[in-house]
Amino acid sequence: MCNKVNSQTLQQSLKDLERTFKNFFKKQAKYPNSKKKKNRQTFRVPQHIQLYMNNIKYGYIFVPKFKEGIKVRIHRTLPDTFKIKNVTFEKTTTNKYYASIVMEVPDVQITNTSNYILGIDLGVKDTITLSNGEKYSMPNLKKYEKRLKRLYRQLSKKQKGSKNREKSRIKLAKYIEKINNIKKDWIHKITHKIVSENQVGKIVVENLNIKGMLKNKKLSKYIHWQSWNKFITILEYKAKRQEIELIKTDRFYASSQICHICGHKNEKVKNLNIRKWVCPKCGTENDRDINAAINLANYAF
Ligand SMILES: [Zn+2]
Repeated sequence: MCNKVNSQTLQQSLKDLERTFKNFFKKQAKYPNSKKKKNRQTFRVPQHIQLYMNNIKYGYIFVPKFKEGIKVRIHRTLPDTFKIKNVTFEKTTTNKYYASIVMEVPDVQITNTSNYILGIDLGVKDTITLSNGEKYSMPNLKKYEKRLKRLYRQLSKKQKGSKNREKSRIKLAKYIEKINNIKKDWIHKITHKIVSENQVGKIVVENLNIKGMLKNKKLSKYIHWQSWNKFITILEYKAKRQEIELIKTDRFYASSQICHICGHKNEKVKNLNIRKWVCPKCGTENDRDINAAINLANYAF
């Protein structure tokens, strides 16, 4: 009995689904189930999804009652055996369509027995420093700023509701997307490198001070903070997959000011312009960022 009810409900919801889905692709309706985020619509198909691959790059997604199938380009290598749980279609602000597929992949048990601890200092400039001395800089995005500002200005001059405004909006959104993708690619590349090449057991990062950042009204600082926040989010899930523990320090841990050799706290280093300093107590010459990264690693001992 219970099954029957469920199956009827299912049938009905599939019918609704079919209608909304068709509208979705015909662009006739305001997007179904759309989140309140402006201009970005998502739509999830919860079950009975099939994926057929023509080759490694192209294939078709079949969802209930949408027999023609939807041609897709695959962005990632897929696992050999999988069961599809659901698929979410998304229309981006730049009018591109994406399908994210959630798959059930058989569990591969990883046991990480490494004791190695890696500290990561997130720089005031767009550079991260690892406690092993490696430094990585984010691609310089400054060259995009001028055009970005111009596109913002162009949009603000267009009349609300006009076609030109919509064109302008898409142009701007595409440009922002491009810049964000450069950043995102870099973050993915570096976080992958960190978790896969160092045989790490634990990673320590600073606890980013959200409230402090929100109080800061300077846009460039906010964007900077946002990048590191994204970095930590991505690092966290990649670390988890490798059974690496990610530790965030106490918010007040002064990783930059402590000498990693003798533990002396040098408040003068608060000044962000000081890149190198000699410890007044033990005489060690400290590189600001490497010293901070080592202190972060020591935090987890
Ligand atoms: Zn010292």
